[in-house]
Amino acid sequence: MKVALLSLLLVALGTGCATRRATLDMPNGSVGKFQGLPIRVDLLEANEYNKKYKLPGPMPELKYVTIHNTANNATAQQERNYLNRRKDKAYISFHFAVDENEAIQIMRTDEHAWHAGDGRGDGNKKSIGVEICRSKYKGETNEDYMRSEENAVKLAAWLLLEHNLTVDDLRMHFDWSRKRCPHRILEGNRWTEFKEKVRQAMEK
Ligand SMILES: [Zn+2]
Repeated sequence: MKVALLSLLLVALGTGCATRRATLDMPNGSVGKFQGLPIRVDLLEANEYNKKYKLPGPMPELKYVTIHNTANNATAQQERNYLNRRKDKAYISFHFAVDENEAIQIMRTDEHAWHAGDGRGDGNKKSIGVEICRSKYKGETNEDYMRSEENAVKLAAWLLLEHNLTVDDLRMHFDWSRKRCPHRILEGNRWTEFKEKVRQAMEK
């Protein structure tokens, strides 16, 4: 019985060590936390297809963080897995997906992605793409989405702090190419409120 309790304690201690503060250079498969939000690294496979269509090359100058809504109900893991396996010759990729439980890092932040719809403009070449999941409406409000958006506030705060940026460097997909994205934030006219929440999280 005592041995069982001791091993339980060791397991608990081990878990504590595994969830240290998230850093930018965490190895693939690891997880860190920021203000209680687990940030897990599950990178796209660097196979020939993904290298051609999703991992186009380095991002030497990182100046912005761009916010999106997925417009469906998939989880962050489902978004990552779908992006990883899709082979429809679309140039599309993003760095992070965040849902009501966790954020998943899909690409390194020193690589640029195809998410902003502005070709080789600053949206794609100089900004990190964050997809807030669960944004398709399920009834009047949906709890999963609002919790995902709260987690996105933490993720955005962490990314801005880690890259020495400010809330003025936050962008919506809309700002780059006039796509109605992030649709939930635009419909609710909540962009100023979202940025204010990020500013507050950065000061915690
Ligand atoms: Zn978007």
